[in-house]
Amino acid sequence: CGIVAYLGHREACPIILKGLHRLEYRGYDSAGVALLNGALNVYKKKGKVAELENFLASKDTHATVGMGHTRWATHGEPNDVNAHPHYSTSERIAIIHNGIIENYAALKTHLQQQGHVFQSDTDTEVFVNLIEEIQKQNDCTLEEAVRLALHEVIGAYAIVVLSKDAPNQLIAARKGSPLVIGIGEGEFFVASDATPIIEYTNEVVYVNDYELAVIRDGQLTIRSREDVTQTPYIQRLELEL
Ligand code: GLU
Repeated sequence: CGIVAYLGHREACPIILKGLHRLEYRGYDSAGVALLNGALNVYKKKGKVAELENFLASKDTHATVGMGHTRWATHGEPNDVNAHPHYSTSERIAIIHNGIIENYAALKTHLQQQGHVFQSDTDTEVFVNLIEEIQKQNDCTLEEAVRLALHEVIGAYAIVVLSKDAPNQLIAARKGSPLVIGIGEGEFFVASDATPIIEYTNEVVYVNDYELAVIRDGQLTIRSREDVTQTPYIQRLELEL
């Protein structure tokens, strides 16, 4: 339902939580964050963003890279386990996802045969395990594994992916669900619409269907699912807060 991610020089968690509040108008049943600070930690709760905030109050949320999600359940009841982010089996990769993966059941059976273990009933957890399996099979970068995974999933998605093995990188992709990237001074924002971004920057790039956005080393790179590099089209928003 709602996506917010941050990579930059500030504390990510407060920016993400504020962004999730801004996306509350869309409706949701649970909320969660993943924070990357050497470790890749996931915290999630059924209920309101305020409940997630209470839960986080006792945690070390120090990180300058992270992502958050508000879920509107389509596959699996609303509960803590089905809330996003979801880990891959190794817990080295985490994903947040808006949309529906239609062929998740067939993919799940296949991945279980390869040894992947599932905690939730969601279609989303299948996506992140598919990425992990592709990376293992091809011995490739996470970026390449995500690109290849986009050829296997059928349905609608906006995703953000973080990996413990790439501590300063955010990967996002979309097909059918909106995704926008905000470009600040040495910092980047990713969101399902511009409302969490506009207080920080008015320079945005709307990701197109079947495109992959990679934020790394202070740069945004966009490539198609077919591996063609695209020139990001930067738009200036004239929105009033
Ligand atoms: N299909 C996913 C789920 O049920 C994502 C739902 C959403 O867009 O929030 O967990």
